[in-house]
Amino acid sequence: MPCQIKIKLQPSGHAFAANENHTVLESAIDAGLTLPHGCCKGVCGACKGKILEGDADLGVCAEHALPAAERENGYALLCRARPRSNLLIEINGVEEDASIRPKEFPCRVGRLELLATDVMRVELQPLAAEPFAFRAGQYIDILLEDGQRRSFSIANAPSKTDVLELHIRRIPGGRFTPQVFEGMKPEDVLRIDGPHGSFWLREKSGRPIVMLAGGTGFAPLKGLIEHAIHIGLARPITLYWGARTAEWLYQHEIAQSWQSALPRFRYIPVISDTRPDDGWTGRRGLVHEAVLADFADLSRHEVYACGAPPMIEAARNSFTRTCGLPDDAFYSDAFTFSAMPEAKD
Ligand SMILES: Cc1cc2nc3c(=O)[nH]c(=O)nc-3n(C[C@H](O)[C@H](O)[C@H](O)COP(=O)(O)OP(=O)(O)OC[C@H]3O[C@@H](n4cnc5c(N)ncnc54)[C@H](O)[C@@H]3O)c2cc1C
Repeated sequence: MPCQIKIKLQPSGHAFAANENHTVLESAIDAGLTLPHGCCKGVCGACKGKILEGDADLGVCAEHALPAAERENGYALLCRARPRSNLLIEINGVEEDASIRPKEFPCRVGRLELLATDVMRVELQPLAAEPFAFRAGQYIDILLEDGQRRSFSIANAPSKTDVLELHIRRIPGGRFTPQVFEGMKPEDVLRIDGPHGSFWLREKSGRPIVMLAGGTGFAPLKGLIEHAIHIGLARPITLYWGARTAEWLYQHEIAQSWQSALPRFRYIPVISDTRPDDGWTGRRGLVHEAVLADFADLSRHEVYACGAPPMIEAARNSFTRTCGLPDDAFYSDAFTFSAMPEAKD
């Protein structure tokens, strides 16, 4: 029998029971609490907290997400850390929500649509007895036969629960994504686990919103914007979608159409390739630099960023250091991948 351990969170004051076989994050979710988190693989660093009292096994984490100096100073990634004693942990952004718990269930593959050379829109129809509950912006894990998992964001809003829309980019040499383009067909059955993540719209806030997508990082933002349309959100939203070439803005027309569905919505596509003969007349450069050029002051805004880890880090660092964005007003999902070359125990 694993012994009962008590974990207290500061400054929220929440407390919950845990045991040494589960990570702090898993025990918190079991207790109906959501801590900020992303990849759940010790790579993105979104669930970082500081252990103020007690002892924990910190588990395997990527060095960039939890550098040695931070480990020594008591920091831990709560998706990896397992308690060895009662713990007091400092972490911000804790929310109570017992209504949505991750579960494992089968899905049938529905429509497959090639959106760009290397991006497939995949519809999954949940085959569970109950409707699949999730919050806009969350992701699911596809469970592979050998026990590995691959994470993909849900690209639709929860007002539609009978179908999950995914935008999957092909990773050459990858274990899973090439088969989406080469072998997957409608009626195939997959097992998924979810929903996961805390990349959702903070609906109680009144701050204007800046959204930042890199490539298929557009997927969860599409879910958030469709949800914003569904609830009639009145806050201003500016979406920057960065891609290498215009072909990678694979749902450009849909993004443009939101400008009439949401009165205070603006869409700014940004291309990073610098070929002058490509006919592109819009913005060029890196997507976070386009935001910096337009917003000198982000101190009253909220930012939602999704895409490759370097883009997320560049956005977080520049917005918080030079534009006054508060640390806790930057929400992100970094598209890390499963292999962790610099993993450290
Ligand atoms: C929370 C979350 C949500 C995500 N949502 C999406 C989504 O909506 N759409 C989407 O397309 N992807 C998304 N990803 C990324 C996706 O999970 C990975 O790209 C996935 O690992 C690819 O699986 P694979 O088996 O084909 O490649 P793997 O077998 O995992 O990778 C093979 C090798 O390719 C490289 N690689 C893998 N993935 C990437 C990558 N993304 N960028 C650069 N190099 C890579 C690595 O070197 C890796 O060792 C998400 C990731 C996370 C953590």
